[in-house]
Amino acid sequence: MERYDVAIIGAGMSGIAAGIRLAHFGKKVCIFERHYAPGGLNSFYAKDGRKYDVGLHAMTNFVKPGVKRAPLNRILRQLRIAREDLMLCEQRRSRVAFPGVDLCFNNEFAFFESEIAKTFPKQIDGFRKLVEAIQAFDDSVFDYPYQSAREVVRGCVSDPLLEDMIFCPLMYYGSSTEDDMDFGQFVVMFKSIFLEGFARPLEGIRNIIRLLLKRYKEAGGIRKMNNGVAKIAIAGGKVERLVLDSGEEIEADVVLSSVGLPETFDLCAPGLESSAEKNAGRLAFTETISVFKKQPDDFGWGEDAIVFFNARDRFAYRQAEDAVDLTSGEICVPNNFDYGDDQLAEGVVRVTCLANHDTWTSYADEEYVEAKEQWRPRICAAAREFMPDSSLDFDSDCIAQDMFTPKTVVRYTGRKRGAIYGAPQKSKDGTTPVSNLFICGTDQGFLGIVGSMLSGIAMANTHALR
Ligand SMILES: Cc1cc2nc3c(=O)[nH]c(=O)nc-3n(C[C@H](O)[C@H](O)[C@H](O)COP(=O)(O)OP(=O)(O)OC[C@H]3O[C@@H](n4cnc5c(N)ncnc54)[C@H](O)[C@@H]3O)c2cc1C
Repeated sequence: MERYDVAIIGAGMSGIAAGIRLAHFGKKVCIFERHYAPGGLNSFYAKDGRKYDVGLHAMTNFVKPGVKRAPLNRILRQLRIAREDLMLCEQRRSRVAFPGVDLCFNNEFAFFESEIAKTFPKQIDGFRKLVEAIQAFDDSVFDYPYQSAREVVRGCVSDPLLEDMIFCPLMYYGSSTEDDMDFGQFVVMFKSIFLEGFARPLEGIRNIIRLLLKRYKEAGGIRKMNNGVAKIAIAGGKVERLVLDSGEEIEADVVLSSVGLPETFDLCAPGLESSAEKNAGRLAFTETISVFKKQPDDFGWGEDAIVFFNARDRFAYRQAEDAVDLTSGEICVPNNFDYGDDQLAEGVVRVTCLANHDTWTSYADEEYVEAKEQWRPRICAAAREFMPDSSLDFDSDCIAQDMFTPKTVVRYTGRKRGAIYGAPQKSKDGTTPVSNLFICGTDQGFLGIVGSMLSGIAMANTHALR
């Protein structure tokens, strides 16, 4: 039976980052991935000869070089990656759009602060107090106790509209819990979006994944694709061996799993004391991708990279009651990053809304296709309400389109209920009841591209290198 120092389950961003770190330190490490493509929730694919990203809208946490403790610079250092190799291009601008009120932001926090001072003059002192509380919070420790972020924000900001406008982007980009979030998670998300910022490589996520896999291979890491882990056999409170989808068995001193906490517990035999189904996340999403011959500048949409929108009096971030909740969402225009003299060949608009996993998975094949056809124009119409007026027609001007639902996420990543932000309960220190089995990535509590890589590195350092 093949034996490894460390076996990693899943070749998503956290699994690959953990693998690079371990391989650099001479560990015999192997990543087992069930899918044929690497990247997990942040992968890529081609359809009718056109390339699409799965997850990348905007890479959060963008900072300039030299900001020492910033997550982006920490991962570059720890993975020994040169910053210029990521080829990151900054956003032009993004926007939080509520009925009749807009708050714009870019990668300079002072601009966002000035927008709040202009739109909510009576709240600016409270907002600055909130920023002080965020900066004073030590997010480097794993074991901070739960604190309601809503309560902390309300202690500083008294206008519910501003409160909701702050929460909307943070929840859409990383909350596994409905309506409120752990203040620690709020701090991580606030820093990653408002205090740091958005960037993207022209070529999309392919560039980043290729770079990471090259590093991993050069450092001596092994990768097995199309061969997932079917069972984690436990004996005496330890992982005894892993049984792969191929039937092959392997041993490892340490196992790092990036597939999610309930998903990992489900793999364990005998089963672990935690009803995995009960603990799975409830928040799932659907996304439409529309491709146009024209550039967004040509139809007057040339400013915003990302728009977080909400059409209700109060923003509700909950499992959709219908198949899709059209009252809020996120619009991404990947053309609106500063690519210098370059530009994407075609105009792209992606619209993401909350969706209901049970509804989408209940459809028979034909009904599923019909439901997608029915919901796509409605999703695009909901987003258009928050985009500048233009003659663009999402149907007649669109030259290609695709749409994913919670069913797609389950199929390609194995995430229970299509919950891309994972389970509401996280394992902040990465430990499980099994002494040599650890969690990294989304369900350790760090997500997004940078967050999940940081998690992979931190869990590798803590549980396999120290
Ligand atoms: C539509 C969408 C948009 C997003 N937009 C952004 C964005 O703009 N910016 C941003 O920073 N983040 C974004 N994200 C979030 C980001 O993609 C994730 O937070 C991050 O990629 C999670 O990485 P991970 O390693 O924790 O998990 P995953 O990516 O889920 O990796 C887990 C891997 O394990 C594999 N696996 C599952 N079961 C098994 C098994 N039994 N055996 C072996 N392998 C298995 C899966 O196939 C997967 O490859 C987005 C995600 C989605 C879906």
